[in-house]
Amino acid sequence: MKIASVKSHVLRYELPETLGYSQQYYTHRTAHLVEVRTDQGIVGWGECFGPGNVALANKAIVENVIAPMIEGESALKRDVIWHKVYNLLRDHGQKGMPLQAMSGVDIALWDIAGKAANLPVHALLGGAHRDRVAVYGYGMMLRPEPVAELAARFEDEAASIRDAGFVATKMKIGLGVRDDIRLATAVRKGVGDDYRFMADANHCYTTSDALAMGRALDELDAYWFEEPVAPEDHDGYRELRMALKTNIAGGEAEYNRWGWRALLECRGLSIAQPEVCALGGISEYQRVLALCHAHFTPVVNHVWGSAIAVATNLQLLAAMPDLPGGLHPWEPMLEFDTTHNAFRDDMLESSLDIQSQVKGSNGYVSVPDGAGLGVVPDEKFIKHHTVN
Ligand code: CA
Repeated sequence: MKIASVKSHVLRYELPETLGYSQQYYTHRTAHLVEVRTDQGIVGWGECFGPGNVALANKAIVENVIAPMIEGESALKRDVIWHKVYNLLRDHGQKGMPLQAMSGVDIALWDIAGKAANLPVHALLGGAHRDRVAVYGYGMMLRPEPVAELAARFEDEAASIRDAGFVATKMKIGLGVRDDIRLATAVRKGVGDDYRFMADANHCYTTSDALAMGRALDELDAYWFEEPVAPEDHDGYRELRMALKTNIAGGEAEYNRWGWRALLECRGLSIAQPEVCALGGISEYQRVLALCHAHFTPVVNHVWGSAIAVATNLQLLAAMPDLPGGLHPWEPMLEFDTTHNAFRDDMLESSLDIQSQVKGSNGYVSVPDGAGLGVVPDEKFIKHHTVN
């Protein structure tokens, strides 16, 4: 079975409201899907991390750089293909967009392998360690409004995410330490004392400001402090982890086994957040997961994007061994965006319906057991939202 064609679809729609994080506000949602067709009619789907114009640039890498390298190759030799493409791209980028582009292609090849074997991806990976996964809901995005209004909004939103059944919630911060403490205090008030919340800075702090914010999060009994400082600042990560009680989480901006080796060796992560649609796809994720577990660092995948990314992560979370294992083991969670996301909720022929599963089963969602990723995208929907 040979690869016949590799095509990217960049989708976009205008959000009903402006959302933001510590680096920017945004008005549109984008997704970048990769469709790999074989000469035997099997079609695989993958997704590349990278919003907005980054998706358009990644589309050019997928279609103009990677596709000519792999068309005509055996579709089942995904690890051979991974190394061929990486070796040819190494001189042009060992992190960032070339890896994001490779990720979508690799995920599509795993979808094809599952469909060819009539097995879900988690079975190809060695079997499901769990048939359901806990889900945390993130929301509480920044908005261009005064901090008092934002704090009131965060308090209400945190309570509604808890009431929707999610096992934990995550907020954005990024206004500076004083205002961020105000926002985090509002979220703690909104969810009450017995509920987990996390704070995501998207690397906007200096180490000393992160230390001040982290001490406030310690007082508020936050569960984790995500991307407190720049991803390159391994020393900052290590210093924060040594100084704070709150778990330090990060890694969504790290790539491949070599980047992850250095990040893990700095000992600055309490919880690792690999992004399968960015770091190199499922093939490389498996190696990064092994590295994380070799460093006894638990993993909660970073999840962003469409239903393809969510389905991919459900397969990976199902196939993730317990670390360290036990009668009541530490469990990973699925990250779930509670803001408007038509590419996740409306893109499949049969929806994953995460929100109603979460509501009906105390925050858990089942793992798709169809072949490959276990989901079927609605091609009419994709065509309708395609911008390229
Ligand atoms: Ca994040």
